[in-house]
Amino acid sequence: MTLCGLCGSEAGDRYLCDRDTTNLAERLADLPTLHDELVQCLVPRRGGWGEIVSTKNAAGPRSPLDENVLDEMNSGNMAKVVHSWRVDVQRVRWPQHSAPPPSGLAADCRWLAMELDWIGAHYPAAGDLAREVRTLEAQARSVVGDPVPRRKVVGQCIAVVDAQGAVCGADITHQASESRLTCRTCHCVYEGQQDLLLLLHYQPDGVV
Ligand SMILES: [Zn+2]
Ligand SMILES: [Zn+2]
Repeated sequence: MTLCGLCGSEAGDRYLCDRDTTNLAERLADLPTLHDELVQCLVPRRGGWGEIVSTKNAAGPRSPLDENVLDEMNSGNMAKVVHSWRVDVQRVRWPQHSAPPPSGLAADCRWLAMELDWIGAHYPAAGDLAREVRTLEAQARSVVGDPVPRRKVVGQCIAVVDAQGAVCGADITHQASESRLTCRTCHCVYEGQQDLLLLLHYQPDGVV
């Protein structure tokens, strides 16, 4: 008889009780969405619409946004932590294999979720893994909100994104608590009646 590594209840001959295994599966399924929301909450916003228009004629390239740096600084290293668990589970299960290459948070979560049965039965650190994933989820929800707000597509971004006058065109989404619209692709912000009227006016035919 072993005790669950997370809650301490009797877990038969497993390292994680059934309830905590189910919870862990749900958290692994939710983490990629939470991570996306987290990055959006923490990405520094670009200026408003007027500023975007004026950059059309400004000299010099726009500074690229380094998503990896943002990720490290802002989202609590979620992807790195989850990947390190994948590396460790694989090392214990298949010691002869070389470590998995970086493949992104979503892929790592899927991989761990598929191995959960084995993890609960054979991985002594299963409780620590479950605890850390629970902490990552709680941290993310404390920033993003719980439940994760639903987003609705309201139109397409009309910001000019290069010197040739190309328009961003990405879907603009909105959730109930937001007082302004932010393009998730170019980070242009639409705020106030003037911006919203312009956004509406320049929508491609048939969108709104
Ligand atoms: Zn448990
Ligand atoms: Zn945009």
